[in-house]
Amino acid sequence: MDDAIVVGAGPNGLVAANRLADAGWSVLVIEQQPEIGGAVRHDSAVHPGFVHDTFSSFYPLAAASPVMRALELERWGLRWRHAPAVLGHCFDDGRWAMQVRDREATAQRFDDEHRGDGDAWLRLCDLWDRVGDDLIGTLFTSFPPVRKGLGLLRRLPRAGGTESVRLLAMPVTQLARTCFGGRGPAAVLAGNAAHADIPLDAPGSGLMGVLMTMLGQTVGYPVPSGGAGELTRALARRFEASGGRIVRGTAVAAVELQGRRVAGVRLADGSRIAARRVLADVSAPALYDRLLPPSSLPPRVRRAMATFQWDPGTVKVDWALDRGVPWSTMPAAAPGTVHVADSAGEMTASVAQVAAGVLPASPFLLAGQMSTTDPDRSPRGTESMWAYTHVPQRVHEDAAGELTGRWDHDELERFADRMQARIEARAPGFGTRVLARRVLGPRELEARDANLVGGAIGGGTQQLHQQLVFRPIPGLARPETFVRGLYLASSSAHPGGGVHGAPGDNAARAALFHARLGR
Ligand SMILES: Cc1cc2nc3c(=O)[nH]c(=O)nc-3n(C[C@H](O)[C@H](O)[C@H](O)COP(=O)(O)OP(=O)(O)OC[C@H]3O[C@@H](n4cnc5c(N)ncnc54)[C@H](O)[C@@H]3O)c2cc1C
Repeated sequence: MDDAIVVGAGPNGLVAANRLADAGWSVLVIEQQPEIGGAVRHDSAVHPGFVHDTFSSFYPLAAASPVMRALELERWGLRWRHAPAVLGHCFDDGRWAMQVRDREATAQRFDDEHRGDGDAWLRLCDLWDRVGDDLIGTLFTSFPPVRKGLGLLRRLPRAGGTESVRLLAMPVTQLARTCFGGRGPAAVLAGNAAHADIPLDAPGSGLMGVLMTMLGQTVGYPVPSGGAGELTRALARRFEASGGRIVRGTAVAAVELQGRRVAGVRLADGSRIAARRVLADVSAPALYDRLLPPSSLPPRVRRAMATFQWDPGTVKVDWALDRGVPWSTMPAAAPGTVHVADSAGEMTASVAQVAAGVLPASPFLLAGQMSTTDPDRSPRGTESMWAYTHVPQRVHEDAAGELTGRWDHDELERFADRMQARIEARAPGFGTRVLARRVLGPRELEARDANLVGGAIGGGTQQLHQQLVFRPIPGLARPETFVRGLYLASSSAHPGGGVHGAPGDNAARAALFHARLGR
């Protein structure tokens, strides 16, 4: 009998598997898809010679995460690449707000636009220097984060005390207004906050915006050389070198119990595999509503799961371009990540519309120029590009009065046209450079990774009411479940979405701790 089965080979499953194998456990990973990696994979299906990341692309969270760093994946073949500039926000007048790794250079650009914003930018960087490491440590450990949390509290007085706490607690729109006068820093902060689904005028968005922006300033927005799947391959190589085994193309249909303890799993073909512990890199609803027998669920868990909230859906478009993007004004340094919106105000409205079930007429686009970032992604002189935007889980209305949210082939293509038109407006002639286009809507994303329910990319909303002690549900905010030996290891657990490995690491730590106690 194996010491542990890990269900799902996403980044969190593979981090958990590595942790347990490092401790000398025999570990079997079972993955439903023919390919491992979950939402960290690449493929060449869009156009011959082009590599596209099927889902995620940029990994500042992985680069900063103490969990991922401890795995030393560079020793297992991972090589990071960086674009000339971290991030560019492209306004409708063709001008750019730019963030580069050099903080002084970023500050200078903001100061050129609005006198004083440069110093304000450097003050924000200085605040991050004082609290950033502890904040990341606090976010990425199990709740409650006692050790790192105390470190953070100790450092706060020298980092501006309650004034700084208040600043970070602000909605990102208010934080930007408080610190800056120009539109550049506001757009960069708001765009980065919009990587999560927290409304940009709600508390929590400021912290998210500062976190992602300051990671851009410190570790950059790196990508794995050759494609996102190279990060997965490094995780798998490391795990298999310690004796770990991975089965692909096999879905786990149920978690088997013996009384109130886990006994193993049942596969889709009915066969059973026994294990002392099971770590589930599946969504919280999949674990509690499908993999566990309904009769095992305590009423309080059933009630709480009924209120679990998914984050919005996603439509992602991949393009193979025969040349680079013809931006009407070329930025001085080419950015890997591009935000497309007219203003921070427009982004705020767009995020609010999605939350209200309205399909935005002018969706906020998060885009990636991948060959700019990693020239190995496509033939010299071409560009492997993508953009995604969020859409409501249930569409009540289309602000443009065209679509229903049925997301059949025709609707997806028309919505992709709407997204592409936003780029075309800033890069006239973009359409003439398209060799091939692929559109992945909510259904296509979920078919490739069952955790992406309705195209949700975060394992559940990242809003305050489903974070910290409330993630995934009140009363079950640690990796432990109500079944002994069963742990939730996916992004549905604290601290949520993103490739940082923390939910997987937290689940593995909990399993190791209980094993030491003989539980
Ligand atoms: C379009 C998109 C863009 C993103 N962009 C970024 C980004 O740029 N940077 C970033 O940091 N994050 C990004 N994310 C988020 C990030 O990819 C996820 O938060 C992360 O992959 C979550 O990891 P996970 O291991 O919890 O789950 P997943 O990566 O979803 O992996 C879960 C795995 O479990 C498997 N599985 C599910 N059920 C079963 C079952 N019953 N039996 C066996 N196997 C099963 C699935 O097939 C899958 O392989 C993006 C996500 C998407 C979808």
